[in-house]
Amino acid sequence: MGKRVYIETYGCQMNEHDSERILRLLEGSHYLETKNAQEADFILINTCSVREKPEHKVYSALGRFKWLKEKRGAVIGVAGCVAQQEGDRLLDRIPYLDMVIGTHAIPMLPQLLQKIEVSGERVCETGFDPEGNYLKTILPQKPLDKVRSYVTIMQGCDHFCSFCIVPYVRGRERSRPSREIIEEVERLVEMGVKEVCLLGQNVNGYGKGLKEEIRFSELLRRINDIDGLDRIRFTTSHPRDLSDELIQAYSNLSKLCEHIHLPFQSGSDKILQAMHRGYTKASYLEKIDCLKRVCPSIAVTADVIVGFPGEEEKDFEETLNLIQKVRFDDLFSFKYSPRKGTRAAQFTDKVEEKVKQDRLSVLQEIQKEITLQKNQEWEGRVEEVFVEGRSKQSPQDLTGRTRSNKIVNFEGSLDLVGKTVPIKILKAYPHSLRGEIQRLEFGRPPQ
Ligand code: SAM
Ligand code: SF4
Repeated sequence: MGKRVYIETYGCQMNEHDSERILRLLEGSHYLETKNAQEADFILINTCSVREKPEHKVYSALGRFKWLKEKRGAVIGVAGCVAQQEGDRLLDRIPYLDMVIGTHAIPMLPQLLQKIEVSGERVCETGFDPEGNYLKTILPQKPLDKVRSYVTIMQGCDHFCSFCIVPYVRGRERSRPSREIIEEVERLVEMGVKEVCLLGQNVNGYGKGLKEEIRFSELLRRINDIDGLDRIRFTTSHPRDLSDELIQAYSNLSKLCEHIHLPFQSGSDKILQAMHRGYTKASYLEKIDCLKRVCPSIAVTADVIVGFPGEEEKDFEETLNLIQKVRFDDLFSFKYSPRKGTRAAQFTDKVEEKVKQDRLSVLQEIQKEITLQKNQEWEGRVEEVFVEGRSKQSPQDLTGRTRSNKIVNFEGSLDLVGKTVPIKILKAYPHSLRGEIQRLEFGRPPQ
């Protein structure tokens, strides 16, 4: 009988996608996924170290699984950014941990697992892979039960923003050859995927270091030409590298959805400089204006950090001012969290925890109001909604997304999954929209 693997994933879409790739790899070694850790032969915690909070979750998760090691002899492993960062130290600290596997070592996982099973040896593999094998396509071995998929187009980052651990734990920026990406998307489409989300820490930088001359906008154009694919999304973009061609792609490419995630991190030029972001508040706003001119219906979301060292009240006011000016569809807001090894961790002008928390609360209150107002703008419209599956909140409902990435829940039958249907938006909520199927043709009332 096959064995069972249970994966617990923390952090961003990259980690989610890495967990998917690990599951696909392990299928080849006769490991099937289980959602119940208690019946697992292999438990893997895929970790994030971008902020302190997710990092701490690793240790509490390991504590939770200790008894399964004792009772069932389950193999326990840690993957992802904390594994990359801590390496052998994790094995020293957690005596019942069997495996530490870094961000570039995923393809080695089946062999490492076998080694542990045969010899009982504890293993740690955290080397960076200069050949880029960790980026190679890993396709599902059994039929896919979903209609949208992530596709990694690049990994790592060369930006070295002063607060960020990513370049240290994911390595230097590396793009995948376009042919490999296109083939992966084509195979996924054959398996029923209709929407892809292209992943990278800085997708605008795509192409750097490749033998072929290709930029991200050209990659998008080639993916747009793939028959059977309906929608394309990507994340994340760095404002400094957001090119005019990429902005134009929003008007030229029919499958590219009208949404961009463009983190700004701060509205203060002084703080942006200390963060080493390479743009100013004015140049960020200019890019947003340009995006809105080319694509008036574009939805914009972003990340922002409050309480970065040296942030004074007037800097925070600049951040709030930027938020009011752009009126983001949604914002992911974080308190600055010092990361060992980054430059900002050594900055001395720290902001008190209470001040950080107060600023975060103020910012989130303002954004909550804007998000709801932006969602309310959709009430009464008929939108193309791509149906993704059953709603987790209410099982009689289906859930899908507009092209602008708004979640829409509505009543309907499962045969609609994977189709794009016209939905009349009836009511806006802070995190989603409620709608009903419209039998008429698509079309937006004049705005
Ligand atoms: N590559 C993306 C970019 O340049 O915007 C961001 C990737 S990072 C994994 C996701 C978000 O985490 C960042 O945009 C930032 O807002 C937040 N973040 C990263 N380091 C942080 C830190 N030390 N403290 C608080 N938030 C942080
Ligand atoms: Fe981190 Fe900056 Fe790279 Fe984004 S661009 S991953 S914030 S170093």
